[in-house]
Amino acid sequence: GSHGMGRIKNKQFAVIGLGRFGGSIVKELHRMGHEVLAVDINEEKVNAYASYATHAVIANATEENELLSLGIRNFEYVIVAIGANIQASTLTTLLLKELDIPNIWVKAQNYYHHKVLEKIGADRIIHPEKDMGVKIAQSLSDENVLS
Ligand code: ATP
Repeated sequence: GSHGMGRIKNKQFAVIGLGRFGGSIVKELHRMGHEVLAVDINEEKVNAYASYATHAVIANATEENELLSLGIRNFEYVIVAIGANIQASTLTTLLLKELDIPNIWVKAQNYYHHKVLEKIGADRIIHPEKDMGVKIAQSLSDENVLS
C-alpha cells in the first residue's frame, strides 16, 4: 500500500490542435498510458481522436473563456500544435502564459514565429521537420557506430 507515501503524481497533458503533429502526440501519450486532453476547433478532428484521448473537446483556444471551460488551469503541460495559423498559435500561447500554465510547448512555423514565442515565454519551441532531421542524423551516426 502506498498510503502516506509520496504518491506518484500523474502528469496532466493537454494537446491543442490535432493535425499530424498534435495528433501523433495524443496517440503516443495514450499508448504510454498517460491521460491526455485533446482539443481542436474542428469537430471532425475531435471525433477522430475521441478514442485516444481521455477527453476530446471542441474549443477555440484563442478564446480565454473557452480555455477556462476546459479546466486548462489544472494542466501541468499544454502543447500548442496549431500549425498554419500563427496568429492563433501566438495568442493561445499568450493566454496560456497568462493563466500560469507551468510548461507550454509550442510548434513553431518559422523564425519569426519562433522569436515571438520566445518573447512570450514558451517553455519549449519545436520545429518538427528540423528537429526530426537532427534526430535522424543522430540515428544514422549511431548505426555506423554499432555496425
Ligand atoms: P500538421 O502539419 O501537424 O498536420 P498543420 O501544420 O497543417 O498540422 P494546422 O492544420 O494548421 O496545422 O493546425 C492543426 C490543427 O489546429 C487543426 O486541426 C486546426 O483545426 C487546429 N486549430 C486551428 N486553430 C485553432 C484554434 N483557434 N483552436 C483550436 N484548434 C485550432
